[in-house]
Amino acid sequence: MRLHVVTFGCQMSAADGGEMAAPILARGFRAVDAPEDADAIVLNTCTVRQHAEDKALSMIGRLRTWKAEDPGRVLIVAGCAAERLGPWIQKRFPYVDLVVGAKSIEDYPRIVEETLAAKFDALRETRESFDETASAARSAPVSPETPVGWTSPVVAPVTIMRGCNYSCTYCIVPHVRGRESYRSFETVMSEVRAKAAAGAREILLLGQTVNSWHARAADGRERRFTDLLRAVASEDGVARVRFESPHPHFVDDALITAFAEVPETCDHLHMPVQSGSDRVLGLMRRNYTAAGYLEKISRLRAAAPRIVVSTDIIVGFPTETDDDFERTLELVERLRPASAYTFKYSPREGTESAGMTDDVTEEVKEARLARLNALCDGLNDAALKRRIGTTVEVLDENGGYGRTRDGFRVKWGTPASPGRLRTVRVTGTMKRTLLGECDEQR
Ligand code: SAH
Ligand code: SF4
Repeated sequence: MRLHVVTFGCQMSAADGGEMAAPILARGFRAVDAPEDADAIVLNTCTVRQHAEDKALSMIGRLRTWKAEDPGRVLIVAGCAAERLGPWIQKRFPYVDLVVGAKSIEDYPRIVEETLAAKFDALRETRESFDETASAARSAPVSPETPVGWTSPVVAPVTIMRGCNYSCTYCIVPHVRGRESYRSFETVMSEVRAKAAAGAREILLLGQTVNSWHARAADGRERRFTDLLRAVASEDGVARVRFESPHPHFVDDALITAFAEVPETCDHLHMPVQSGSDRVLGLMRRNYTAAGYLEKISRLRAAAPRIVVSTDIIVGFPTETDDDFERTLELVERLRPASAYTFKYSPREGTESAGMTDDVTEEVKEARLARLNALCDGLNDAALKRRIGTTVEVLDENGGYGRTRDGFRVKWGTPASPGRLRTVRVTGTMKRTLLGECDEQR
């Protein structure tokens, strides 16, 4: 039996894709790259912007033929859009076998097993052994050796919290993923240990406001995010730790010190700012001002000068004026992010801002996005060019391809050995990737 997982959306969604594959792989399925070769497909959807949702829905539409060719095949639609549109998806695409929303991720192994058992007679087992296997699958971390929906066995995502307690007015995430829940210190550490033992060298801690994580450990002591970061960094085999997405509110002295003191912490902070206008930030309910955000970044840069920053920005939020947009450009000039994900505001049904008139015209959104992108591309280009002629430490993720500690992609070809740290001399750039030469064995 063959399984194909398609993931849309963010890194948290990609990590979920791995978790969604686990119980199916545990039933003896083998992962395949092409959907047409699969007996079961999991479509892990995203709904953060309309465009992301549309892409997933159109893929469900295209899978109609795949399903018609052999009705014995299983199509599972999961994730954030499945949470938002569950009954509608079932009605609109009746050939979908199972719709399971993001909030049900903890129950997912059981729900999926029931569908598979009903569908594939060969897999039907006694209730007792099913319970054992399902709970084993639930607790077993996805082996980094068989990453599904993830590109490298060397970089292992570890979800440390689910959901979000913030209520940014444009954002659907709290609606589809629910309130925050933190995984325990022990659970996170055992997943890290298992992944490191299986070959992961870089751990990517994931959560919507990842640095808000805290939990009381088995010894009764409260652990905060930086305690977890330090513990993960000191695990055998872990060469690097990254985390995403931090929220500025939780960037405190402890985190700034950890960046400076813990060598395994990558020199890279991806921290969404969304806008440079305090008026718009207020309407978005982001809980910081542009100056407050920049102040945290400059404290961080003072403590750890090598840090490279990247960010997310939305243009065309309801009522955003030319002046507000100029503030965003100004912020970008001062922040100088090495890269930025830029988005046109997309109203999401059920969010607070969807009640405001989406009054910035498509034309203006496009024009603002183009100006912002030109500025960000220039900064990205300059950051890449500055590295030409330098030597950088790269973790080989994929055989001659990997990332620097500060988050740049590097391609050098040979020698290739996934999992190894390499010193690469940067000789040029291609698109957003550094090209280099590596002549040492380590
Ligand atoms: N939890 C993260 C962001 C998760 S969503 C944080 O708060 O930092 C990922 C990105 O999608 C956001 O940073 C934002 O830039 C973008 N985004 C979210 N909702 C959007 C919407 N309705 N329209 C346009 N972009 C949106
Ligand atoms: Fe959405 Fe805001 Fe939560 Fe990020 S912090 S997931 S943008 S509500």
